[in-house]
Amino acid sequence: MAGTLKNISHQKNAYISTYGCQMNVNDTERMYSLLEMVNYAPAVSPDQAQLIIINSCSVREKPVHKVRSEVGRYYPLKQKNPHLKIGVAGCVAQQEKKKLLKEIPILDFVFGPDAIDDLPHIVSRLEKGEGKVVETRFTHSEPYHVQTLIRDPEVSAFVNIMKGCDNFCTFCVVPFTRGRERSRPLNHVCEDVQNLTERGVKEITLLGQNVNSYRSDCGADFGALLLALCEKTDVKRIRFTSPHPKDFNEDLIDIMQSKRDRVMDAIHLPAQSGNSYILERMNRGYTREEYIKKARMILDRMPGSVLSTDLIVGFPGETEEHFQDTLSLLEAVPFEMIYSFKYSPRPFTKAARFENQVSEKDKSDRLARLNQKHIQFAFSHSQGYKDQVLEVLVEKRDNKTGYLSGRSSQNKLVHFYGSRHLRGKTVSVKIQKTYPQVLYGELLA
Ligand code: SF4
Repeated sequence: MAGTLKNISHQKNAYISTYGCQMNVNDTERMYSLLEMVNYAPAVSPDQAQLIIINSCSVREKPVHKVRSEVGRYYPLKQKNPHLKIGVAGCVAQQEKKKLLKEIPILDFVFGPDAIDDLPHIVSRLEKGEGKVVETRFTHSEPYHVQTLIRDPEVSAFVNIMKGCDNFCTFCVVPFTRGRERSRPLNHVCEDVQNLTERGVKEITLLGQNVNSYRSDCGADFGALLLALCEKTDVKRIRFTSPHPKDFNEDLIDIMQSKRDRVMDAIHLPAQSGNSYILERMNRGYTREEYIKKARMILDRMPGSVLSTDLIVGFPGETEEHFQDTLSLLEAVPFEMIYSFKYSPRPFTKAARFENQVSEKDKSDRLARLNQKHIQFAFSHSQGYKDQVLEVLVEKRDNKTGYLSGRSSQNKLVHFYGSRHLRGKTVSVKIQKTYPQVLYGELLA
């Protein structure tokens, strides 16, 4: 008892700011859980913290600049409290390594995605005054064992099943910042998911840079993992992100169709471009025609499933004619959602050295036209939900408005009135009003 009181009285606070993808959001939760083990509680704002970590992302533009400008805001805090420790994690840390410490002298530590589990040790070294700490090694050969750490699980949780990527798309920095592909053993993933289910989680999203190239040490592939999760765990709903189109085959779709009551029917299938020449320069491993064929195969074999995608405009060498193929991909495949980006060169990548970089003006113009075209389709796709009855997993209730919100199997955000006791339950909702991003409906008895 005395020990507990002593620990509480010495508790410190950590603040983590998070950029980028869901993998980083998950990593931040993991860091908070690890920090709890060394007596750090989450701080509500940086000025309440004795430890600040910027969990960075290098996928989008000017990542180092973003880190520098955030650290700049902490100068007054460091002047007030010289014991404040400030560090950078994530992909920029992995990419820049100790260079970051030289360029931004008030930083105390830098650690990459493979060193997250060393965080308690890093903090202890900092507290002992061992000087600046850099932990950015990759562990290419060690098996990937990472139990999900979540302090207070919600209705839905994310579970890493693999990390890294071997695909080397010419625009992408991930293989350089997250290393080679490594998968968690199938039985570990199942135990992890069952454990979360016993703590109240109803829906899990399997996470990886390239989930459908998952390969357990026992040889099981991604389809086998989905089957095992349905057989060995009580989790109600399974989602995953992101698969690679080249690895999406008929067997996987048939497994998903056979387990439709558990495996949700929203599939994010990143196309990146609608032009075969650009896809080849991107090293994506499929042509426009192959992509369209695969998308149609999914919609045919899983009727009612919905597709979303990622698209890049202004890739080096992309002409107006190539871009027109990306625009027309929206006519060939009924995407309910697109995530569109302007190409920006990333360090170490092949495409950064390509000639014929597209001007910023053309990139902005193409992005605007792509989004404009998607909006037209998005309205008509969303209207298709009017009067439909969707099965919605209730995630939360807004106490001010009384609205419950949750996601349908198609990953649609749905709002409707109802009791807070419905949180965690799957209920039927009749859709009355539709918008591209959100649906409103009425709870059925
Ligand atoms: S598949 Fe391509 S875009 Fe996706 S993480 Fe791997 S290299 Fe990057």
